[in-house]
Amino acid sequence: MRKGSIPENLNSVAERIVTACRSCDRRADSVTLLAVSKTRPAEDLRVAYDAGQRHFGENYLQEALDKQEALADCDIIWHFIGPLQSNKTRDVAVHFHWMHTVERLKIARRLSEQRPTGMPPLNVCLQVNIDEEDSKSGVSVEKLPELAASVAALPNLALRGLMAIPAPRGVAEDQRTPFIRLAGLLEDLKAQLPDQPLDTLSMGMSGDMEAAIFSGSTIVRIGTDIFGARK
Ligand SMILES: *Cc1c(COP(=O)(O)O)cnc(C)c1O
Repeated sequence: MRKGSIPENLNSVAERIVTACRSCDRRADSVTLLAVSKTRPAEDLRVAYDAGQRHFGENYLQEALDKQEALADCDIIWHFIGPLQSNKTRDVAVHFHWMHTVERLKIARRLSEQRPTGMPPLNVCLQVNIDEEDSKSGVSVEKLPELAASVAALPNLALRGLMAIPAPRGVAEDQRTPFIRLAGLLEDLKAQLPDQPLDTLSMGMSGDMEAAIFSGSTIVRIGTDIFGARK
């Protein structure tokens, strides 16, 4: 992709979302663009914010908290998308609107307990290790129904859906396979837990965004194609 300014890049990603949605008969507003701003300074987020971007995703807690302070005047919707140690859950429970990487019950329990009263429930997605890779985070497909049932019972969390980071495929069409599988797992969960607000598939990054949208993604997490390559 051509390296443009952050507002130019946001525009071209938004156009790609519109094109992808059109080619599979989806409404463009059914996909939320999450700007993944890890390693980027707060000034870059402000440039994106001034261009209209509202959803930002961060992976590293301390870095995220520093940026939240610098951008306290902005009405940003903050998403935590990185791995989280159980002794760090309070900051996510207090300072974020969304948490995409819940993969075990201990973390979910703590997030629910630590969510301040008076705040709306924390929106959570369960991260699924969709390609069953040893090196990857996420609950296994086999254990997903049990984890989902337990998380659904926690009072201060809203179980919104599933998140995955599939292994890259060599062939573009093959990239849809894990996304379609994740979409199927969400359908199974909706049947299992009809009272939950299960409406979210957090899938698709700079390299596989279109494949994810074709497969039903509702949140695409885009870093490089907005902010440029990370060091
Ligand atoms: C870094 C990251 C992204 C963004 O990746 P790009 O390839 O830069 O678009 C998306 N999701 C997660 C979980 C990430 O860690």
